[in-house]
Amino acid sequence: MKLARFTDGGRTRLGLIEGDEIVDLSTLSPSLPAEMASLLELSADVLIAAAERALRSASRRPLVLVRLEAPIPRPPKILAVGLNYADHVHETGAARPAVPVIFNKQSTAVIGPGSAILVPPESAAVDYEGELAVVIGRRCRRVPRDRAREVIAGFTVCNDVTVRDWQRRTPTMTMGKSWDTHCPLGPWIVTADELADPQTLDLVTRVNGEIRQQASTREMLFDCYVLVEHLSTAFTLEPGDVISTGTPAGVGAARTPPTWLAPGDSVSIVIEGIGELLNPVAAESVKTAGQHLGDR
Ligand code: MG
Repeated sequence: MKLARFTDGGRTRLGLIEGDEIVDLSTLSPSLPAEMASLLELSADVLIAAAERALRSASRRPLVLVRLEAPIPRPPKILAVGLNYADHVHETGAARPAVPVIFNKQSTAVIGPGSAILVPPESAAVDYEGELAVVIGRRCRRVPRDRAREVIAGFTVCNDVTVRDWQRRTPTMTMGKSWDTHCPLGPWIVTADELADPQTLDLVTRVNGEIRQQASTREMLFDCYVLVEHLSTAFTLEPGDVISTGTPAGVGAARTPPTWLAPGDSVSIVIEGIGELLNPVAAESVKTAGQHLGDR
């Protein structure tokens, strides 16, 4: 099933995608959790039973009339993987990693489908990275690879937007990977039972309709299950945690000359079996230093 967050009539809630409609899970009785991370924590049986009830009795709205939001607005953790496709390793000139290259994106960077990726005044070197994202459904630690599937609630699409010059000027990538609006997620979460094998999915990134990245998730150096095993060796994974699994070749930085995202562009990432994550690009307007200090 496809689980989404949406806003309609000024209220944001959880829904189930059914064709070109969204079924409002908040109208179900007995009620389901109101937060996506808690919904993902339910066992597959409970979730499927709730979905069947919802399809019979919950109210629905045409998808075109609602606004889809990021399926998880503030993931407890956003873990990301660098250099996880051989052709992308090659285009960056880096050595093939012996262990997964892990970094964090801050949860404040998350936006939903349709929201604008902002180009800040501090850098023009804003780049896209189309990626398959794993969403964790169970609190877990030291998960062996052959049981990793049990802790994955589902999959979504992530654009690991990157400010390249800020990424490269220090050994840790953190400052270049987490600018506000630089973690589009969506359009929804496809539950794991619907994707038999996350390592056979086609991924295509387009900028203004032009294909920039085209790959299969089978090309990953470290697959989704290895990544869950590796990460959970060190720390607890929790419901709602997101693991963005790396990007294939074709990023703007590797083009000659490099091609950065600019206001007015649109970035589309389509992953087979999940859907399309589409975001416009806009200039961030900053009038005076410190203008946000007073926000309460
Ligand atoms: Mg990436």
